[in-house]
Amino acid sequence: MRRIIPLACLILCPLAVMAQTPDTTHFTHADTLRGSNTLQRAWWDVAFYDLHVSINPADSSIHGWNGITYRVLHPAREMQIDLQEPLEVDSMVQDGEHLTYRRDGNAFFVTLVAPQHTDERKTVAVYYHGKPRAAKRPPWDGGLIWQHDSLGNTWVATACEGLGASVWWPNKDLLADEPDSQRIAITVPDPMVDVSNGRLRSTVHHDDGTTTYEWFVSSPINNYDVEANAGHYAHYTETYKGEAGTLTMDFWPLAYHLAAAKKQWPQAMSMMGCFEHWFGPYPWYTDGYKLVEAPHLGMEHQSGVAYGNGFENGYRGRDLSGTGEGLKWDFIIVHESAHEWFGNNITDKDAADMWVHESFANYSENLYTECQAGKQAGARYVIGTRRLVRNDRPILGHYGVNDEGSGDMYYKGGNMLHTIRQIIDNDEKWRGILRGLGTTFRHQTVTGRQVEQYISEHAGIDLDKVFAQYLETTQIPVLEYKLDGSTLSYRWANVVKGFDMPVRVALSKGGYTLIHPTEAWQTVASRLSRPEEFGVDENFYVEVKNVGASAASTPEHQGGSALR
Ligand SMILES: [Zn+2]
Repeated sequence: MRRIIPLACLILCPLAVMAQTPDTTHFTHADTLRGSNTLQRAWWDVAFYDLHVSINPADSSIHGWNGITYRVLHPAREMQIDLQEPLEVDSMVQDGEHLTYRRDGNAFFVTLVAPQHTDERKTVAVYYHGKPRAAKRPPWDGGLIWQHDSLGNTWVATACEGLGASVWWPNKDLLADEPDSQRIAITVPDPMVDVSNGRLRSTVHHDDGTTTYEWFVSSPINNYDVEANAGHYAHYTETYKGEAGTLTMDFWPLAYHLAAAKKQWPQAMSMMGCFEHWFGPYPWYTDGYKLVEAPHLGMEHQSGVAYGNGFENGYRGRDLSGTGEGLKWDFIIVHESAHEWFGNNITDKDAADMWVHESFANYSENLYTECQAGKQAGARYVIGTRRLVRNDRPILGHYGVNDEGSGDMYYKGGNMLHTIRQIIDNDEKWRGILRGLGTTFRHQTVTGRQVEQYISEHAGIDLDKVFAQYLETTQIPVLEYKLDGSTLSYRWANVVKGFDMPVRVALSKGGYTLIHPTEAWQTVASRLSRPEEFGVDENFYVEVKNVGASAASTPEHQGGSALR
């Protein structure tokens, strides 16, 4: 999931999308503080977050503290800690001493007193309280979600991707820095139960009618994935014999949805089998896998995927591809769980590279369809989703200002990866690349460029221009051609300089041939009798255009017109 252009809106409310499309030309001082590795952030590396939050649904307030333990990378005196308005800091303490700080919007600049020696581990505790921003349209426009379930029980959850975890707890709100581990201790009124990330370590009842649920994540975690879900839950556990041993899979539906969950959620097991095959071992065996019912559509919260898809297949009962394939499985189980590999295991350092999360998660829907119904069904699905590509602006956003690019990072990004699979034309090699990304960058933050270079290097094909075309422009490559007797001429148009993507085309009625077009005209012998018989394998996300003498009667078309 992501923030600004709601996925649901791509289908349900195009006008609302246009209204919400962010201004991508002006960024503020606050955007820079939020999205860049400022001087006051760069000198320290988060090692551990010790988060304690009490949630009070009666007045929609929270209070608590976070112990921020960090390694000193180089000595400095001023530290940036993020906590969004209207939350208030009560105090900041290091080595028993209260620190002074100044506030600049959602960022606090703290003056440290104790010397900060390189390689030393230090801790700052931040105490805070207030009524955090209530989510307006979670999960896309997030914050705290104060809800009641359909029986009238209080139900509280968090969702803050894009907006940032500092909407509900103080931290270094920068994608590039994850703690090595984290405690999440959430106190809620009885009889609510809190489900957060990782493993439940302890449950402590208090005399004031509240209970603290202490969860622990033993792995690096991106901060927007840290969650609280407090409600009236049922709980059951399954085990999965996977590539890295026995994985616990814990399921937390609302108590009155237990039967529905036991019917719908076994898909999590087949999801796990499919994605371990294609992406490698689930990245969090130590922390387990969980599916937690939430009062919003869904979010890839690490080792605790939030689910709100109504226990039905498709995306809220709809098929995004228009082919019928998307109604055969539960979109939220598949898409959000895929983020455990792409988004959580491998996290982008900057929101501008969010395609590393969403293009692969979108592509996983194709692979899951393939696992269930075969390769052609998977291809039908991903090709079907092209109808949702808008080509409004590039998939890459602006760096350093917490800016995400176009929502095309989903369908166009998934189709870019499907096209790259065609270029590599060796499914085992492709699977090796997908798995290799997971091991090479295991539990790391990356740049999109690193991912691009890894794929090119291991494919043995320079894909630079392919990535540039699909990620940095809004243009879809057009294969121009003309047939003159038995000679077919072809070239790429509408492409970045130097674009040289190979493509499979029909030069006879018998099947496809791989050609290597560039921007310059080339020729090849063909046994086609009419220009209309020429076509491109529709698995390549390109367009085709006859520019020959007979072109006037041949409208531009997408690949795949000649052969199906
Ligand atoms: Zn997603």
